Amino acid sequence: MRKVSSILGTLIHAAECGRIEILEDALIEASPSGSIADVLTPEDKAYTDRLASAREQKGFLELEDGQYLLPGMIDLHIHAPQWPQLGKALHLPLEQWLQKHTFPLEAKYADLQFAETSYRSLVSTLLANGTTTAVYFGTIHLEATQLLADICLDLGQRAYVGKVAMDNPDQCPEFYRDAGTQKSLEETRAFIDYVRSLNQRGGDLIHPVVTPRFIPSCTDDMLRGLSAIAQEFGCHVQTHCSESDWQHQYVLDRHGKRDTASLDAFGLLTDKTILAHCTLADKGDMALMRKRHASVAHCPLSNYYFSNAVFPARMALDEGVNVGLGTDIAGGPSPSLLNNIAVAVTSSRALEEGVDPSLDGAMRGSSGARIDFREAFWMATAGGAAALDLKAGRFEPGYCFDAFIVDIKSAHSNIVGWPSLDGPEDILQKIIYGAAPDNVTAVWVQGRQVR
Ligand SMILES: [Zn+2]
Repeated sequence: MRKVSSILGTLIHAAECGRIEILEDALIEASPSGSIADVLTPEDKAYTDRLASAREQKGFLELEDGQYLLPGMIDLHIHAPQWPQLGKALHLPLEQWLQKHTFPLEAKYADLQFAETSYRSLVSTLLANGTTTAVYFGTIHLEATQLLADICLDLGQRAYVGKVAMDNPDQCPEFYRDAGTQKSLEETRAFIDYVRSLNQRGGDLIHPVVTPRFIPSCTDDMLRGLSAIAQEFGCHVQTHCSESDWQHQYVLDRHGKRDTASLDAFGLLTDKTILAHCTLADKGDMALMRKRHASVAHCPLSNYYFSNAVFPARMALDEGVNVGLGTDIAGGPSPSLLNNIAVAVTSSRALEEGVDPSLDGAMRGSSGARIDFREAFWMATAGGAAALDLKAGRFEPGYCFDAFIVDIKSAHSNIVGWPSLDGPEDILQKIIYGAAPDNVTAVWVQGRQVR
């Protein structure tokens, strides 16, 4: 894979939540290890000299008119094995979708040939959409999940990967369930060891994640055991939280607590925890998440199909909770995080305005619920990075050189640039609403070109 030395052109990133920074004619330099060494603009004294020497180096690239450099997308919630069912069976409620379609599909990953074909296709497609960091649920299979980690390393994607734990016989079918609690915990340990050995060979791209599917799928012994492993190894934890009416009620019935409180009681709510959805989280849940510094993986497209409601993203930001974005493949039928930025904005508007026309306008919505494209873009970049303790998602010295080019003039582009009419931020909005893989003409992870 080719390494970049520096790029000259227009850089767009969210410097903080709600603030977009656009740097024109900027020079972004990579260090040999793939971090951002420096970002210079024409106002900097050293700019002219540094640009002259950058042009001499191998790996220098000058963006063309219509090309923009964006930080790589960070997708906080993906079910890698569900890739073959993207867009299917979305008419079913979550519990039926899982039992009839998803669990039978995930069970197929006992077959490593099947896993290889599916995972390669998924990781390639995500990179083609500009997703440089992905947080994956694998399956219950140790070997197939190791293979997913191998493929991410091979294709150069930064990845956080978990072997799914699900041992509860009441909720998990016999054909797709961990063979036993202790065996599953041993396999989680084995997976963590495997990923650590991978990184000794291939840098620091792949990270293990402790992955209780969600409370309904796990026995209390499993939840306790996984919490101990996460603490012992200092791993991230990923699970689902208050995703739908059914799931939320299930936890209330079983533990007499809301999801966040129950996870907290097991020691699974920490500053390394990523909670997918949190659609039904209230202010009390948000206060607990903030206290524990846990993050939300907001999956706005998936919410429409499986969550019975829209995650109150505005409330979460106002309550000081860190929020990133996820596609929730295949609950969300799109591999594009840019698309999910657009849907995050749209769904917050639906929440604010309401959607039932039979109600009076004043009664219809939840006032003050909207977020804008600046905030949603921040979630997909810097917000996701914060959830992972990762210096990425922004163009700052010392951050990972994870980035992609959007070329609005590429063939078949849906993005119309109109320089005489467009303000600086308009191009970013147009990219969010219109970019497709055809517009993504190059992708770098840790300074290495992976597309
Ligand atoms: Zn999910």
